[in-house]
Amino acid sequence: MRSYTQFYIDRKWVDPVTPATADVINPATEDVSGTISLGSVADVDKAVAAARKAFGVWSQSSVAERLELLRGIQAEYANRMQEMGEAVTEEMGAPIALGCGFQAGLGAGHLQTAIEVLENFKFEEQKGAHLIVREPIGVCGLITPWNWPLNQVTVKVFPALATGCTSVLKPPQLAPYSAQILAEIMHKAGTPAGVFNMIQGQGSVIGSALSKHADVDMVSFTGSEPVGIQISKDAADTVKRVGLELGGKSAWIILDDADMAGNVAAATGGMMVNAGQTCSAGSRLLVPRSRLDEAVAAAKAACEGVSVGDPHSDVAMGPVVSKSQWNIIQGYIQKGLDEGATLVSGGLGRPDGLSRGYFVKPTVFACTNDAVIAREEIFGPVLVIIAYDDLDHAVEIANDSVFGLGGYVSGQNRDTAIALARRMRTGAVWVNGGFDFHAPFGGYKHSGNGREWGEAGFHEYLEIKSIIG
Ligand code: NAP
Ligand code: MG
Repeated sequence: MRSYTQFYIDRKWVDPVTPATADVINPATEDVSGTISLGSVADVDKAVAAARKAFGVWSQSSVAERLELLRGIQAEYANRMQEMGEAVTEEMGAPIALGCGFQAGLGAGHLQTAIEVLENFKFEEQKGAHLIVREPIGVCGLITPWNWPLNQVTVKVFPALATGCTSVLKPPQLAPYSAQILAEIMHKAGTPAGVFNMIQGQGSVIGSALSKHADVDMVSFTGSEPVGIQISKDAADTVKRVGLELGGKSAWIILDDADMAGNVAAATGGMMVNAGQTCSAGSRLLVPRSRLDEAVAAAKAACEGVSVGDPHSDVAMGPVVSKSQWNIIQGYIQKGLDEGATLVSGGLGRPDGLSRGYFVKPTVFACTNDAVIAREEIFGPVLVIIAYDDLDHAVEIANDSVFGLGGYVSGQNRDTAIALARRMRTGAVWVNGGFDFHAPFGGYKHSGNGREWGEAGFHEYLEIKSIIG
């Protein structure tokens, strides 16, 4: 049992102003795995005051000082990486190989990237008769979700730190452990008082207080669209900058010249990674109509091959994060059946042999793009396959979404694939795989605004000053 009942404020571990606790549930067993404290507005006030005080000094720190701190954090992060991966598995159910591998590894990657960007970043630039000076925006409220918990925390905390900002982090109640360990790492590495603070608790209380706080200059949020909208409204009265990374319903287009079976298997397997709880997941698979049967057969085979079970064993998929998430996903699967989509594999209920834990059957439907299951973000292991007639039709379907986060194109003709990528109204398109920590990540349309990752992620936290003459 974990007990994480103190907050990290002003380089001290402190009790909440008003004691209140909540249980954390292990989604694989449905048992309580630990306890956290739930903060109040008074805790937010304390943390923001500490961050404000620290901003005066930290904003004036040198790049060398910030690099030294980031490298210290990096050494300590490496020491505790396995432990953080285990925490991720316990809090949100990712298979242990994913938790200790990619989940914890993304944090290490963003840390290394922040160091590389900071080593070369141009904070000042003379342009004609004016000097551009990029200055830290101030005190930042960082609000994160549970699905890739370390990724989302580190992609905010390190760029904020590297640009000279101070911050207050509000991790998700559902996945609070990895963030707590990260705060311990920040402390051990000698992060100065008030530069980084962390309060656990309810988004409707802590997140809202940060969004409304007169002494917070910016809020960076990753999570759902409705909460992003609420945060924008809450932040409006104090004219804050708001960075939003929201949901998606990304299209994966397979071209006619591609190896159909291989790419469908990759897309289907990709959809089931992290039990489908990935904002940029390729959740709509678009295939040429003439090859639909072939694609459906390949998806069925791939889906049936996805092992589901105890995340501490060697499985491809663990449970989804919570009972409420399980219910939402079941509701979408039922909706798909009700609206006449063709069930290719999976379906309602738990996978055979699992009677406890929030396990979902890896599921594939074939449908059209007007189906609710093709339009709304399910945030579970549910893939829809949609047929297209020609490339214009594929682009039309891909862009016929309120979201615009990611996109994928698989095909042998690189020119055709890149031309298609250019026509997709999304913040990123992955062509035949690939991964780059320096590539900007963020959404068009309802998927959000702003860009995280790499150098783009630094600009989120900077003001531009012109000194003219
Ligand atoms: P969520 O409900 O929006 O919660 C995200 C965070 O916001 C949590 O820490 C939550 O606190 C907090 N929050 C809740 N209400 C708030 C309020 N009124 N004011 C301020 N903060 C508030 O999202 P989720 O269910 O955790 O995550 C799933 C969603 O996130 C999906 O839609 C997914 O696509 C999206 N997502 C997007 C990205 C991206 O990069 N674009 C990445 C990951 C996830 P609690 O702890 O109380 O819930
Ligand atoms: Mg939520």
